[in-house]
Amino acid sequence: MHDLVIRGGTIVDGTGGPPYPGDVAIDGRVIVQVGGTAEPGRRELDADGLLVTPGFVDIHTHYDAQATWDPLLGSSCWHGVTTAVMGNCGVGFAPVRPDQRDWLVGLMQGVEDIPIEVLNAGLPWTWATFPEYLDALDGMPRAIDIAAQVPHAPVRVYAMGERGLDGEETPDADQLVEISRIVGEALRAGAVGVSTLRTRMHRGADGRLIPTNRASDAELMALAAGMADSGRGTFEIASDYSAGSLEEEFARYRNFARRSRRPISVPLLQDHNAPEQWRDVMAQIAAACGEGLAFSAQTAVRPVGVAMGLDSRAHLFSACPSYQALARLPLAERVAQMRRPAIKDRLLGEARAGAGGMDLARLFLMQAPIDYEPDASTSIAASAIKASVDPLAMAYEMMLEKGGQSYLYGPVRNFAAGNCEVVRELLESPLAVPGLGDGGAHCTQICDVSFPTSLLTHWGRDRRLGGLLPIATLVRKQTLDTARLYGLTDRGTLTPGMKADLNVIDFERLAVLPPVMAYDFPAGGKRLTQRADGYQATILAGEVTFAGGEHTGALPGRVVRSR
Ligand SMILES: [Zn+2]
Repeated sequence: MHDLVIRGGTIVDGTGGPPYPGDVAIDGRVIVQVGGTAEPGRRELDADGLLVTPGFVDIHTHYDAQATWDPLLGSSCWHGVTTAVMGNCGVGFAPVRPDQRDWLVGLMQGVEDIPIEVLNAGLPWTWATFPEYLDALDGMPRAIDIAAQVPHAPVRVYAMGERGLDGEETPDADQLVEISRIVGEALRAGAVGVSTLRTRMHRGADGRLIPTNRASDAELMALAAGMADSGRGTFEIASDYSAGSLEEEFARYRNFARRSRRPISVPLLQDHNAPEQWRDVMAQIAAACGEGLAFSAQTAVRPVGVAMGLDSRAHLFSACPSYQALARLPLAERVAQMRRPAIKDRLLGEARAGAGGMDLARLFLMQAPIDYEPDASTSIAASAIKASVDPLAMAYEMMLEKGGQSYLYGPVRNFAAGNCEVVRELLESPLAVPGLGDGGAHCTQICDVSFPTSLLTHWGRDRRLGGLLPIATLVRKQTLDTARLYGLTDRGTLTPGMKADLNVIDFERLAVLPPVMAYDFPAGGKRLTQRADGYQATILAGEVTFAGGEHTGALPGRVVRSR
C-alpha cells in the first residue's frame, strides 16, 4: 500500500523524453514508482487525461522579505512552483548589521520596487549573519520549498561598513578577505548561490547608483574565492553591459568562473534599444562554454512587461495634475470620480499634453485568455482606430473596467519586433534556462511571476505568431534544467528516489488568469497577484499542497540548503 498514487496520467517526467501513460507512486516524501500500474494507495488521485510533471523550480524570485511573513508565497504557489530560488540580482536582507537595515530596505525598494513601508512592517530582523537568516526562514512552515542565494550588496556593506554604500569605494585587503569569508560561510550554511547586480538602470531609494554596479575585479574575485572555498553555489550576474565592451565584461566573468569553479547564470533579455545585443551575449556565453566553463543564459519565457492599472505606482494618468486630487481615494471612489465626464475630459487633456509616456500601439488590454505575444492588430491604438474612437479615451475606459481592476500590458523587453521569436531562439538553445519571473518584486507594476505557466500554455499550445515547442522540452526546462543549475539533485525529474514534488495538470484548461491587485502585504501594502486555471493538484514532499488552485492547508515546505 503506497501513501499516494497518481493514477493513469500522462507522465512528462522532466528528462525531456517523450510523455508516456502510467501511474506514479509515492511513499512518504519520495517517489517510488514511475510508470506501469502501481499497487493501491492510501490516497489516490485520478489523473486520467491529465499531465503529471515534476514540480516547477523557479530560479528567479525576490521573496527574501515575503518569505518571512507569507507561508504560501503567492503568486508562485499558484503556478506549479514547488521550489523558489530567491536572493537574486545582488539584493536582499542578510548579512546585516542593525544600522544597515534601512539601507538594505531602501535598496530593495529602488531595485525591485517593494515599498519601504511594506518591508519595514514585515521584516522581523531576527538575524545578523546569513546562516542566521536561513535559520529564521527555516523556523517557519510553508507551502513551497525555498532556496536562498547570498546577495552581493549586503555582503559588501557588511564587510565595508558605511564606505560600502558608495560604489566609488573599493574594499581594502582585510575587507576582501572578509567578503570571501562571509560568502563561504553563507554557502556552507546552505545558500545555493551568490548574486550580483551590474546595472546603471537600478538605483537605491536614495537615488544613488547601486554600489555593486562597478565592483572591481578584486572584489569579484573575493566573491569567487568564497565560492571556490566552499565548492558550492551558482553565481548570478545581472548586468546591462554598460561598463565597457562585452568582451571585457565577459573576460571578467570567465576569470570569475575559473577562480570559483562554479556555474554562472547570466540573465538575458532583448533590449528594445539594442535589439541584436542579446546575440552577442549568447556568443560570449557559447565561447565560455567552449572553454569548458559552465555558463548559461537565464531567459524570460515571454516579454517582460508592465501590467498597468489604476492602483499601479504609475500609469497613463498618474502624472496628471488633476489625478493628484483623486490619487488617495479608495479605488472604487476613484473609479466613480473618473467616470464623471468633466473629470474624464480634464484627465485626457492633461495626459495628452504630458504624453503619458506609453506607446498605445504597444499597449494591450489584459483579458482572459491573455495573449502574451499579442498581435499588433489587437493593440489599444489599433483597436481604437478600428472602432473610430480616440485611443487614449479607449485606454481610459479600459482602465475603469472591473471596478478599476483591469490591467494594460506593455511589453518592454523581448518584443522589439512585435513578436517573441527571440524567446523561441533562446528557449531552443541548450545554453538557456528559464527564469526572471521576479516573484515577490515589482509589486504594482509587473506581474511576470506566471512565467512557468506561460511556458507551457504559450509555447506548448497557444502561440499564434510562430511555432510551438514540444511539451516534454518545456517541462524539462522548468524542472530538471532549473534544478540542476542550482545544484538541486534531489528534485527536477519523476524518477524513483526523487523528492515527491509534482504537478497534475489539466493541460487543455491550463491558463494564466488576468492579474488582480491584492491589499494583503504588511502595512496594507499592495501587490499584483495572478492565478492560473488547470493545476489540478500540486504535491510537495508527498503532500497535496494545492488542489484546484486552492491551498489545502498543508505546509511541508522547507528551506533547501546546498550540500
Ligand atoms: Zn531580479
